[in-house]
Amino acid sequence: MTHFTANSPHARDIASVLHPQTNARKHRETGPTIMTHAEGIFVHDDAGNAFLDAGAGLWCASLGYSNERLAKVAYEAMKTLGYYQIFRHASHGPAIDLSEKLLSIAPVPMSKVLLQCSGSEANDSAVKLVWYHWHAQGKPEKRKIISRRGSYHGSTCVAISLTAKPEYQTGFGLPFDGFLYTDCPDYYRTALPGETEEDFSQRLADKLEALILAEGPETVAAFWCDPVQGGAGALPPPRDYFQKIQAVLRKYDILMVADEVICGFGRTGHMWGCQAYGMEPDMISCAKALSAAMQPISAVLLNERIYQSVLQQSDKYGAFIHGYTYAGHPVAASVALETLKIYEEIGMIGHVRSVEPVFLRELGALRDHPLVGDFTGIGLIGGLELVRDKATRENWPAEIGLGARVDAHARRNGLILRIVGNRIAFSPPLIITADEIRELARRLRATLNAVHHEVSAL
Ligand code: PMP
Repeated sequence: MTHFTANSPHARDIASVLHPQTNARKHRETGPTIMTHAEGIFVHDDAGNAFLDAGAGLWCASLGYSNERLAKVAYEAMKTLGYYQIFRHASHGPAIDLSEKLLSIAPVPMSKVLLQCSGSEANDSAVKLVWYHWHAQGKPEKRKIISRRGSYHGSTCVAISLTAKPEYQTGFGLPFDGFLYTDCPDYYRTALPGETEEDFSQRLADKLEALILAEGPETVAAFWCDPVQGGAGALPPPRDYFQKIQAVLRKYDILMVADEVICGFGRTGHMWGCQAYGMEPDMISCAKALSAAMQPISAVLLNERIYQSVLQQSDKYGAFIHGYTYAGHPVAASVALETLKIYEEIGMIGHVRSVEPVFLRELGALRDHPLVGDFTGIGLIGGLELVRDKATRENWPAEIGLGARVDAHARRNGLILRIVGNRIAFSPPLIITADEIRELARRLRATLNAVHHEVSAL
């Protein structure tokens, strides 16, 4: 099966670990890349290589990959109250403090916070809250949920049903019924010739309205959206896109749920992605940078309207019958709270805004590269379009395996990239400096040059 020495960590990994989002058969040949330690925004592997990870792990390591202060907070929390649940009226300081803090920074008035453990769980629970709400309102038929093609909202059965990517669903016999998909705002790839961004956004809003009318507005419960669409390759929408979408949702009394799992806590140069685009959601799911990825924790923020429905349902069923053992975990909540304190102390949003022009300029400068069609970004998130032909925007054929080539050359250049379809998606740690962004761009250009040389010879 493998050429690794018996009992090496590589052989032991292959023998024992089932890796998420990994080609299981290929893994038996290639084995794992084993990371050993980190310094700031650089991760080191066991072969002595250091990588600048341009995706902050999975869009999450906002403060880099190690943090003494958060370690101390976790240690103290474990000594003081290492676990307690928040079921059946029980509570503890970290859950209260964190919920209060999240409400105080919410982009629109929110009423309560439901603490969870992951982004998938947050979205899964938010779907249940949507259904719970419409049941409480005497409209159980208002149940269908619309998300956007190319989006990623998590991996539980419900979250993957929200995730409009067939390759994530069909092998599992998913999605569940009642999950519908509309277009994603990919202006570069799908605008009509000569269409302005405003006309494009209006056309997408009209398409959404047509879908709602075809399904029957009385059957459509909610619209799910991440402000910058991570699953579509860190795709920022046109400026007025969400205003137009929101107008349609209001017309038919459809809830808006903002998935802020990637964008929350400064990624766009605003505390929330919603604030960058004028969104006013009824619920927000968030995770990742909430704890700088140092503890698994997420949250759903719900507005008063939804909370009133929870009260009604508690009257009817005796309780809000939903919950996870580790929801509101005191260690995770303590680390999250400290993370938010660190962001305030170091002026994280101000920092993102100050390096945003360098990020946009340095990566935007790659538009001159023969493999690059475009770059779009905001704050410290964005994506670069890989094309075969800049004029026609034609893609490289799948059999060329462009993404795998980019990935391999990037690693040789000490860079970890996230390739999503035809886009290279960037979401570096939020603490990245202007010099480190220049270094990222330098390594990226070297990578693209090597790939271009290779594919030109084919
Ligand atoms: N929503 C978005 C926008 C995400 O990017 C992700 C994870 N990449 C999730 C939800 C799911 O989060 P988790 O992996 O923590 O379950």
